[in-house]
Amino acid sequence: MSAAAAAVAREERRLTELDSAIGDADHGGNLRRGFTAVLAALDEEKPAAPGAVLALAGRRLISTVGGASGPLYGTLLRRTGKALGDTAGVDVLRLRDALREGVDAVARLGSAARGDKTMLDALYPAVEALDGSAGSFRAARTAAEEGAAATVPMRARRGRASYLGERSVGHQDPGATSAALLFATLAETAD
Ligand code: ADP
Ligand code: MG
Ligand code: MG
Repeated sequence: MSAAAAAVAREERRLTELDSAIGDADHGGNLRRGFTAVLAALDEEKPAAPGAVLALAGRRLISTVGGASGPLYGTLLRRTGKALGDTAGVDVLRLRDALREGVDAVARLGSAARGDKTMLDALYPAVEALDGSAGSFRAARTAAEEGAAATVPMRARRGRASYLGERSVGHQDPGATSAALLFATLAETAD
């Protein structure tokens, strides 16, 4: 979580620039505020189990971020954390299964699917790449980055960018970009 907060702070401007092209120019700020609040929450309360850390982080994102990404990422972390439960040891396949539940919950919450030009276009490929083989966090990072890049030619069907219709084509989705950033952070800290 601290690595994620640092990455979001470092990339805040880029995320906001992407959101200024097809949204309302707040994605970087939304996530920076959210992850700052997550670190504050984890400072007060220090859950031992990874699942409990994710669940607390998710609740805090939901309560602090006003934009769509707060409830969406909050649901991702909360649901993934719940699926992990209070187990102390988490291996790649267990994390993959928990993340899949989390990503499915995001898709339900936002009534979105792959190809709609959202964070799901990075999240689904990343989760699929976590097959338990050596270096699968790195593979997930690559899959997420390719998924984010693949949103450029897409026309947005969900979120603010969908209001632009055809004019959303030619821009990378901010949420898919931040999802790739979070998987890059996971690869740097976990592999
Ligand atoms: P807002 O659009 O409320 O300002 P943000 O700018 O923080 O929120 O986040 C925008 C990102 O949220 C989009 O780039 C997209 O990836 C994601 N998003 C928006 N709506 C949905 C949805 N219905 N399902 C999945 N992801 C979505
Ligand atoms: Mg926005
Ligand atoms: Mg907004």
